[in-house]
Amino acid sequence: MDGRYRLFFGTDRLAEALNRDPGADPEKQIAAMRDTIRRPNGGGKAFGPARRQPPAMCRPEKIPILRRAIMNLKRLTERVWFYPFEEERDRPNLGYIRGDNWSMAVDAGHSGGHVAEFYGALEREGLPLPLLTVLTHWHWDHTFGMHAVHGLCLAGDRTNAHLADFAERLRNEGAGFFLDMHESIRNEYGDGRPVIVKTADIVCPGEVYFDAGNCPIRVFPAVSPHTDDCLLTEIPGEKTLFLGDACGGVFPTWEKDPDKCRQLALIINATEAEIFLEGHWTPSTKGETLQDLML
Ligand SMILES: [Zn+2]
Repeated sequence: MDGRYRLFFGTDRLAEALNRDPGADPEKQIAAMRDTIRRPNGGGKAFGPARRQPPAMCRPEKIPILRRAIMNLKRLTERVWFYPFEEERDRPNLGYIRGDNWSMAVDAGHSGGHVAEFYGALEREGLPLPLLTVLTHWHWDHTFGMHAVHGLCLAGDRTNAHLADFAERLRNEGAGFFLDMHESIRNEYGDGRPVIVKTADIVCPGEVYFDAGNCPIRVFPAVSPHTDDCLLTEIPGEKTLFLGDACGGVFPTWEKDPDKCRQLALIINATEAEIFLEGHWTPSTKGETLQDLML
């Protein structure tokens, strides 16, 4: 395994140990990192694509002191970080890719408050704000922070269409129906902050490559059992793939179309990525990701 691809995990002693071992098995590294990540609200997913349940000792009622704790970025590779997911407010992982010339974020988060916390974590790490934010799909917890992001946003055409529909419904009906959808949404917007929905600045025309400066990034549409507007983001040089909720079922039943699962499995399998980050879970291996997809 090339040293560039070895995992980082902040200044954690585990990461130091892992990084001293150039022959470490990537699957074992990911498993060790996942076990070490402190899940601020217990991990798992009550509202989103729930699949894997956290151990009982990690559930929110067992660790109330960690609720709404300020979180820091987690470092995945030399150039890739993420701001960790949170169950209580249905906040997904937010990705961050640092090129030599500019940076990209993956997903805009649940609200302007979510964006502010993410950017605060970037600032604490001395990392510049993203110039471009790529949206994995249209769901509110991944997109409603878009009005507060720095730079421009990129999304698929169907993502923008879904967002435009949702914005119109908000204009016509007010935010009540949205807040009534789930407790996690009321937790996010419980302080009375306005629900602001906008569309992305740039429509992704298909598969596109960016060069953030010695850091190629591939953004491409994919079939998904979760929504019809899935965009995946691969950082080939870092062997990392951001999946959003692509491996989950349809909201709110979480049913999965087996044919779409098979098509996505082929796409995932064809990548050379070794680190996979789903929207509401900790980093996984390719094998774990495919297993989760096919559940
Ligand atoms: Zn989703």
